[in-house]
Amino acid sequence: MSKTNMSRLHSAIDMLGKLVAFDTTSKNSNLGLIHFVRDYLAEYGIESTLFHDETGEKANLLATIGPKGVPGIALSGHTDVVPALETTWVSPAFELTERDGKLFGRGAADMKGFSACVLALIPDLVKRDLTMPFHLCLSYDEEVGCIGVGSMVDHLAAMDTPPRLAVIGEPTDMKVINGQKGKYSMRVGVTGTAGHSSFAPNHVNAIEYATRAINLIAEKARHFEENGPFDEDFTVPHSTMLTTTIGGGTATNVTPDYCEFTFEIRHLPEHDAEAVIAEIRDTVMATLDAEMKAKAPETGFSWEKIFSYPGMGDCTDAPAFELVRNIIPDVSGKVSYGSEGGVFEKQGNIPSIICGPGSIKQAHTPNEFIEISQLEECLEFLEALTDQAVAA
Ligand SMILES: [Zn+2]
Repeated sequence: MSKTNMSRLHSAIDMLGKLVAFDTTSKNSNLGLIHFVRDYLAEYGIESTLFHDETGEKANLLATIGPKGVPGIALSGHTDVVPALETTWVSPAFELTERDGKLFGRGAADMKGFSACVLALIPDLVKRDLTMPFHLCLSYDEEVGCIGVGSMVDHLAAMDTPPRLAVIGEPTDMKVINGQKGKYSMRVGVTGTAGHSSFAPNHVNAIEYATRAINLIAEKARHFEENGPFDEDFTVPHSTMLTTTIGGGTATNVTPDYCEFTFEIRHLPEHDAEAVIAEIRDTVMATLDAEMKAKAPETGFSWEKIFSYPGMGDCTDAPAFELVRNIIPDVSGKVSYGSEGGVFEKQGNIPSIICGPGSIKQAHTPNEFIEISQLEECLEFLEALTDQAVAA
């Protein structure tokens, strides 16, 4: 490795240590980290815009490096991490620790590694004569359903010259991922009537109506499995739908007056989840809910959306994708886990790919780590992107 590359790698490791030291578990404020990055960027004359949530305790950060008025590239990383409560951590989760060429710490792979590489390149980036800008996008609340990034994406989309590509730096071992499933999850409340179970026919059994709705959902899921739509690039090549939690009833001899369950669909990017949910709801309301109300008008179903994020479609046809293809010629496929790529693409109309250092296998596990060689690869990728921004 050349001396410059070696010193860049050291800066990236040093930066990763600083980022990991902020306990940005999704339930916490991320402002410590955000203000640290804002101050760091300010040292290089780069201005940051913050987009706070309604509590003021969390924020997205957007910083543009390079010329304005030209469509550039968004480099996106979420700042939050999943909890590190496992007792099997060998070293403190929020203290980056090196062992055998690996750096251990919560968020090392998912996904502060990518952000650390981008930040480590800032001193070089500001010296280059860029012909297009890079937009550093740091978000909050990704791990709880990609719910933070939206305000920043809306801002990007409304710019005179929105980014022409977004690189989402989730851990992919620096492979290029060109698709990701979306998710839509719902909470359903079923209200019946309580009474002595020996008079069951006089009552509306909330659990039994809930299970009939659950069967409809399972049937629909089987339909997707058998009839598609299909996309063989996904490990599970169709949309999946299932009930995930259920609770109800008060005693063994009382007809249950309430039951609540949750269900989710993880859908192919082009599969309209909202339409699927609406169809299930309409069927249930027209049949089960109507049947319940005929018996007792105060009973029935209630529906509440928990959250949703869109899927990310294939953008390899987008002209700006060439910039990535020039560096990494092969596309490696599509993933079923969530990322902010769908929000950039569907909500912001910004073609998006996922490509970042580290492995998804280490994400959300105790003793999460990133290989130092992955940071090196990421730095090389970002440098090659920058070179094209200068030459373009
Ligand atoms: Zn992540």
